[in-house]
Amino acid sequence: KEYTKDDIRTMIAEENVEFLRLTFTDVLGAIKNVEVPVSQLEEVLNNDLMFDGSSIEGFVRINESDMYLYPDLSTFLIFPWATDSEGHQVARIICDVYTKDREPFAGDPRHALRVALDEAHKAGFTKFNVGTEPEFFLFKLDEKGNPTMELNDRGGYFDLAPLDMGENVRREIVLTLEEMGFEVEAAHHEVADGQHEIDWKYADALDTADKIQTFKLAVKTIARKHGYYATFMPKPVAGINGSGMHVNMSLFNKDGNVFADASDEYGLSETAYHFLGGLLSHAPAITALADPTVNSYKRLTPGFEAPVYIAWSASNRSPMVRVPVAEGNGTRLELRSVDPTANPYTALAAMLTAGLNGIKEKLEPSASVDKNIYLMDEEERRRAGIKDLPDTLLDALEALANDSVVVESIGHHIAGKFIEAKKIEYSSYRQFVSQWEIDNYFDLY
Ligand code: GLU
Ligand code: MG
Ligand code: MG
Repeated sequence: KEYTKDDIRTMIAEENVEFLRLTFTDVLGAIKNVEVPVSQLEEVLNNDLMFDGSSIEGFVRINESDMYLYPDLSTFLIFPWATDSEGHQVARIICDVYTKDREPFAGDPRHALRVALDEAHKAGFTKFNVGTEPEFFLFKLDEKGNPTMELNDRGGYFDLAPLDMGENVRREIVLTLEEMGFEVEAAHHEVADGQHEIDWKYADALDTADKIQTFKLAVKTIARKHGYYATFMPKPVAGINGSGMHVNMSLFNKDGNVFADASDEYGLSETAYHFLGGLLSHAPAITALADPTVNSYKRLTPGFEAPVYIAWSASNRSPMVRVPVAEGNGTRLELRSVDPTANPYTALAAMLTAGLNGIKEKLEPSASVDKNIYLMDEEERRRAGIKDLPDTLLDALEALANDSVVVESIGHHIAGKFIEAKKIEYSSYRQFVSQWEIDNYFDLY
């Protein structure tokens, strides 16, 4: 919603708001916040609130650590759950980060997405619409309130209670999200035990990225109230499905959805095919941002409804890109490799830029794959032009470093910090000796 400064002042006074949480996202996708009492409201509204960014991941060097937070007034909301016994409330505003010279900060992921959207506008597109399908697991908390590895239920896809013990939690999450301005379209149990999915209406990419961050906070908060721990880790339990966050995208100009062409066998326009060509050809680099953890690559394995190959299809669910059945303005491409550990701002900036690059360069996608790729052998896949997605974080980082289009899409500052931090993460993982290694090598050698 578009709010004026006066609207904000009024809501804060009428609703008894005492604290303002100014939030932003770091390079690794974590939400950060600075909390101030409402006495600081005028300073906040005048873009004068400073904070020290030096200890934030991927931010700055010590000598330039003072930064400003510019509130995006349209993101103002009062947390539905934070009211204390005296009725005092906490509100949040998502902020853009500016340097002390009052320039947009190059390390701010939200800024990177704004830049990518500006590029789309310059190319004549009015809107990049995105809808996501985040999945998560609920684990039980112990008496001390610490998470256990015990799943909350043994339900399956679209199961009903009592198998689906998550029903009440999910319902409260949905109601809470609606209070926070989400239009929830579906909420259901997912395939794996203890796994759930909640989808809300698509919106402009920036709005959707903001909502993904808000969503994670709401899910974790409400789950805890019910004695559960919610995790968006992609593969918390080996041997069962992991959690994805499919991304549905469409591009509009003043005449409507430019992906739609009713005369095509899949309902896709030339522009949509080129956008798809861009997504496929930049897929390895996008994967670094869409699947940014060591654990992400344990989800991207055969047999668990997550993609493993760079391919697309209109009829088959297994490939990386699917064309959902829809027509006209609903026409869209669904990228299924993404998981919920992705920083939504940089991941969406990369997808949009890759697609626009495909349009500009008139990239052609490989042919649609209509059979089950998992039943094809390597030779068949090679002949069909189907490449593998990166299978480790390290491979994906390498692909990112070598893809100048995707690096530009998030800017050199963010790309550099991201790759550096992720390489450290990977090498820390490599030093860990897992149970699998003990089980398979200890006795054998
Ligand atoms: N959980 C699956 C994944 O890892 C997706 C299941 C679905 O199609 O919704 O991506
Ligand atoms: Mg799902
Ligand atoms: Mg889906």
